Amino acid sequence: QQQQQQSDADNIKVVVRLRPLFPHEQSKGAAEVAHVSEDYSSLKVVVPGPAGATMQKEFSFHACLGPETSQADVMALCGIQQLLDAALAGYHVTIFAYGQTGSGKTHTMSGKEDIISDDAYNGHEHDGIISRAVHYLFQQVHTRKDAKYSLKASYLEIYNEGVYDLVHFNPKAKSLPVKWDASYGFYVQGLKVVPCSQQRAMMEVIRTGMKHRKVGSHRLNMESSRSHAIMTIYCDATPTDPNSYDFGTIRYGKLSFVDLAGSERVKDSMSEGTMLKETININKSLSALGKVISTLAEHDAAGTTAHVPYRDSKLTKLLMDSLGGSALTLMIACCSPSSLQVEETLSTLSYATRAKNI
Ligand code: ADP
Ligand code: MG
Repeated sequence: QQQQQQSDADNIKVVVRLRPLFPHEQSKGAAEVAHVSEDYSSLKVVVPGPAGATMQKEFSFHACLGPETSQADVMALCGIQQLLDAALAGYHVTIFAYGQTGSGKTHTMSGKEDIISDDAYNGHEHDGIISRAVHYLFQQVHTRKDAKYSLKASYLEIYNEGVYDLVHFNPKAKSLPVKWDASYGFYVQGLKVVPCSQQRAMMEVIRTGMKHRKVGSHRLNMESSRSHAIMTIYCDATPTDPNSYDFGTIRYGKLSFVDLAGSERVKDSMSEGTMLKETININKSLSALGKVISTLAEHDAAGTTAHVPYRDSKLTKLLMDSLGGSALTLMIACCSPSSLQVEETLSTLSYATRAKNI
């Protein structure tokens, strides 16, 4: 028991990624106010102090990635391959991208859509974590001899506490129900889960999902920045070695890639009617997620059993089997380095600090 709690503490990793400052921001007078240390362990933010003075705030995380960090570097510095290996070994893994709109969440998770639409994987420097993960998983599955693997994928969106299938997409569809099953936990009734024997099939799921995330945002008359997108890869493995300790038992590994809704505070002018409801719901799932992660973290630190409020939002319900316990979590907090967005950056860093506070 003690050992389990000990290992839980290592199960949540928090990484910060700073995107570059864009020329159009510079031309508006924005300065770069966030900088990472040379050893990637901390970052400093210059914040306005009293009477025109400035002061520096320092934060440390498992890794802090600067604007020059490539997509390939992200894989290595975040230890993504270890997480993929864990999923192939039967663990549940969740990778989040958190941050304000425009901070690089989708860039980090998915990369650029026009590259993903090329269904035969060629590999491209802009590819995000998901395409690179898919590439690695199929490489492993096709060469490993220890087990017979089968991969499946689904892609969904949570908007305004409604759940929508981004693969089997129907523009008139109502929100899919989230149900509870004693052996499976929470699941989305009617969600399409696509068996993918080849990489090509899974890239097609991703491409379709990304396209529908855009279409869906038109239908619901909302910004896609207001929704959470979850791409899930199910890794079933049947050990083939009769001498293996788990011969005859199927392992159900699972990987969830979560592109969270923008974390920014919504402006007062928008806080009316639908917008208000929407805002409350977005903040509800993001704050529920924060509560779940910090409860897990505190519980680890204190070595006690706490009530983890998974049931407070659709997002945390659906991720219940992939957060806490033996599950592995990576939170990538995406930040703008711009002086004009320093308040949002500080708020992201404080959310990220709470998550890693173990
Ligand atoms: P979010 O999903 O958080 O709203 P995006 O991923 O869409 O933000 O990023 C906003 C813009 O910034 C996009 O045009 C994206 O290509 C660009 N961008 C984000 N991160 C980087 C990065 N690390 N390097 C280069 N461009 C980036
Ligand atoms: Mg985005």
